[in-house]
Amino acid sequence: MTDQPESQPEDTRQHMPAGGVADGGLPARRAAYAILNDILFQKRNMDEAFARAPSLEDMAGRDKAFVRLLVATVLKHGHEMDEMLAQLLHQPLKDLKPQQLINIFRLGFAQAIFLQTPPHAAVNTTVDLAEAEGIAHHKPLVNAIMRRITRDALQPMPPRDAGRFNTPAWLWNEWMRDYGVETALDIAAANLGEGAIDFSVKGDPADWADKLEADVLPTGALRKIASGFIPDLPGFAEGDWWVQNAAAAIPARLFGDIKDKTVVDLCAAPGGKTAQLATLGAIVTAVDRSAERIRRLDENIQRLKLVVATAVADGAVWKPSAPVDAVLIDAPCTATGTIRHQPDVLWLKDIRDQEKLAGLQRRLLVNALDMLKPGGVMIYCTCSLQKAEGEDQATWLLQQNLPVRIKPITEADMPGLDGLLTTRGELRCLPQHWQVLGGLDGFYAVRFEKLA
Ligand code: SAM
Repeated sequence: MTDQPESQPEDTRQHMPAGGVADGGLPARRAAYAILNDILFQKRNMDEAFARAPSLEDMAGRDKAFVRLLVATVLKHGHEMDEMLAQLLHQPLKDLKPQQLINIFRLGFAQAIFLQTPPHAAVNTTVDLAEAEGIAHHKPLVNAIMRRITRDALQPMPPRDAGRFNTPAWLWNEWMRDYGVETALDIAAANLGEGAIDFSVKGDPADWADKLEADVLPTGALRKIASGFIPDLPGFAEGDWWVQNAAAAIPARLFGDIKDKTVVDLCAAPGGKTAQLATLGAIVTAVDRSAERIRRLDENIQRLKLVVATAVADGAVWKPSAPVDAVLIDAPCTATGTIRHQPDVLWLKDIRDQEKLAGLQRRLLVNALDMLKPGGVMIYCTCSLQKAEGEDQATWLLQQNLPVRIKPITEADMPGLDGLLTTRGELRCLPQHWQVLGGLDGFYAVRFEKLA
């Protein structure tokens, strides 16, 4: 299982520029097909699959964005597409040979039903894709199915039905237990939407909103629709800002004034929250188990012209040389709060991941508490929607007879928390929050104080 960061300062995701859907031709469809096969058959996560796609490197930004849109549409609506396909084929989908043929159909359905590709183009490009991928003997079948769905103008399910249908059973059960049916349906529907690209800036948000043609969100993060190629935006090369979802940018700010305080960022890479802590003037040690990810953190921190110490270590056992003022645990989790950006989560994670991660999250909590000075503050957060990785972990820690209490988060802590706090004073963001502004990633944070 690969941990998925919810925020990447060096994020170069290509989002569709203003002006609609690109085409990208056969190379874009072949790239999308290779990436989908990698994710769905080889169980590689989306970032790895995109990094491995050979033809992507030479592609124009607009075409890369189209590849991403195709892949995301299939991952978000795949089960819905399969249901439609099953009704048209006279054989069970599992009997399709080769197995990868299903992704040819899904890509065709994505264009014809979800992305408003003109019918003739959806049919022709899907047939061409089958031929280019050496599945030419199935061309008549692909042609017949694609003509049928375009002729009948099949429509997507309404959003809440689609959300429910495309959510795996284990996740649906968790959300039902945690939130009840109405909220679970809203979560599932919101997950089908496109996640916005948000930025955290080192300087004045209003100033940077002008330069980046972005909006200032209630918490002070910036949001830009149709961002294009991120490194081309003003201020990227100069290290004036980094990509970070607005929800992910909240926890590090809940320490309050941490100038000159010693802070351990325990699961730090690729460094979105480390950058916030360093920008606020803290003396930061960034710890992560992955050497490769610490290397990326170092690159990001250098671009941002910040200074932090780093350590490659298991945060469940590592200790600082002396007790510290604060610890941030951005724990590895199932990342279900990021499904709008990373819909591979719907296919790659299961309840066993959650159970395994829950054990690690508890060990991280106990070790982090041990690093703190009496009176020190610890923030635990995850980009998971499940309470098993959030609220339940806080409850568990409070039951361990350790010197710790919750230090409730209040609306006075920072602007924009209205509607995002639980009765116990925890942060609980859901993807349907801030809907009129374009949504928010799912996120959880709790603040603890170590007792003397
Ligand atoms: N805080 C980061 C940010 O804001 O950019 C994102 C962190 S990501 C959610 C979780 C990180 O935990 C991953 O980089 C992963 O390598 C790291 N990790 C997983 N298990 C760990 C462990 N036992 N000790 C330390 N880090 C760990």
